[in-house]
Amino acid sequence: MRIGLGYDVHRLIGGRPLILGGIEIPFERGLLGHSDADVLVHAACDALLGAAGLGDLGCNFPDSSEEYKDIYSIKLLERCARMVGEHGFKVVNLDAVILAQAPKLMPYRIEMEMTMARALNVSTNCINIKATTTEGLGLIGRQEGMAAQCVVLIDSP
Ligand SMILES: [Zn+2]
Repeated sequence: MRIGLGYDVHRLIGGRPLILGGIEIPFERGLLGHSDADVLVHAACDALLGAAGLGDLGCNFPDSSEEYKDIYSIKLLERCARMVGEHGFKVVNLDAVILAQAPKLMPYRIEMEMTMARALNVSTNCINIKATTTEGLGLIGRQEGMAAQCVVLIDSP
């Protein structure tokens, strides 16, 4: 068994949709990035790649590449899952936490879990997504950005 850790932060700005866990969440602002800036899915990709010893998202899918401009990050997660599978590993479980002061994310938890489970080709009960505020503290509390942390366990089948 091997474990991987992922962490990501993106800036919140007006005029962008908020995409988290592969779904669009109604909010007046969205995350800024080269892709759709799905901070949760990026942390999941880094955790997966890290578990398999395959580097990180940036080195596998460089943000200097036009190919990944505004890409739906679930597509990157699917590709990471395929790479991990090709190296002989299967995802055991994924646990993640989103750090966001607003909006309330719990109503979207199940849909995010289902979307990420589908991308990883695992059952929904292998995916657990949590969310927390930072009690108004720091860049998350001031709603300047959102962050996510993720751990993934993989095993040889
Ligand atoms: Zn990112």
